[in-house]
Amino acid sequence: MSSPIATLSLKQRDAALSSQSRQLEVLDAVELSHTPKKGSFDATLTTHGWESLTPAPLEIFQINVGKLCNMTCHHCHVDAGPDRKEIMDRDTVDACLRALDQTEAHTVDLTGGAPELNPHFRYLVDQCVLRGKHVIDRCNLTVLLLPRMEDLPTWFAERGVEVVCSLPHYRQRNTDAQRGIGTFDQSITALKRLNVAGYGMGDPNRQLTLVSNPVGAFLSANQGKLEQEWKTGLLKHQGITFDRLITINNMPISRYLEWLEQSGNLQGYMELLVNAFNPAAIAGLMCRNTLSISWDGRLFDCDFNQMLDLELQQPGGQRPHIRDFSPALLTQRQIVTARHCFGCTAGSGSSCGGAIA
Ligand code: SF4
Ligand code: SF4
Repeated sequence: MSSPIATLSLKQRDAALSSQSRQLEVLDAVELSHTPKKGSFDATLTTHGWESLTPAPLEIFQINVGKLCNMTCHHCHVDAGPDRKEIMDRDTVDACLRALDQTEAHTVDLTGGAPELNPHFRYLVDQCVLRGKHVIDRCNLTVLLLPRMEDLPTWFAERGVEVVCSLPHYRQRNTDAQRGIGTFDQSITALKRLNVAGYGMGDPNRQLTLVSNPVGAFLSANQGKLEQEWKTGLLKHQGITFDRLITINNMPISRYLEWLEQSGNLQGYMELLVNAFNPAAIAGLMCRNTLSISWDGRLFDCDFNQMLDLELQQPGGQRPHIRDFSPALLTQRQIVTARHCFGCTAGSGSSCGGAIA
């Protein structure tokens, strides 16, 4: 198997942007005084009648079970990779389950890194399925080819797990450019295995969702149109079927931020995000109905805030941890925002569930 490694993590390279505060400084330093509300996300929200971003009822528990990944994609907002050893332990997994039991959340969304590499992954999935939750596995596809993972498509199918797979493009060149040489071929092999296990055929208990994010400094194209194009392209060239495609804008953080800086695209991309602000996306922002939990049990409004170390702010001011989870306090929080948030409101809007508006 050729190596899918595309780069090294910021942390492994000891890059300046491995510091989250440095990332926030870089974003704040972008000259946006000529854009609406001078590039202030909060001021932009206020203009559209949102004095602050407030939570809606909690629907989704998004658990980031660790930064360990078998890949090192250029655009990764987690700075994940084989060198990242941060992994959720069993005590924290159990604390997540106890917290889940206190809520009406209908979905548990498992992410990483490659979540399947966490040794407690199968236990966590089983516990969530036992509780009647819809479970999503955010899968990079190549992980399914690792020897101890080969049974996973069938194992997922038996439990009704939705598999949400990253595939930047249905053409080899674009996918390998973002995720590393050889990734496309491995992804196609994994998708075929998922099809064999019954995924991607319209069965609601075997949902196969593909995720596309732009390979470059532009916004996602129209989700519906892209889905049609991909369905035709993957069936014709690879004989693969899937249920739906979601599009996600690249967030200007972590390794994608590094690429924006190094390629001279940072200024233009931030202007693009700010100028493409879509007020229709505000109500559906994922931070409003999701709780994001980090590998070490800390709480965040969303996975992007988690990667910037912007912890959830509850009344009382203490650093919230899943051990001390309180549904009542959670509803009283104000969502923490900064300039990266323009990535979620640009164009059709963007979230882990795809386009918003
Ligand atoms: S983008 Fe996904 S597959 Fe790629 S390094 Fe990050 S977590 Fe791993
Ligand atoms: S990054 Fe997006 S989801 Fe997260 S707090 Fe900002 S607007 Fe909400």
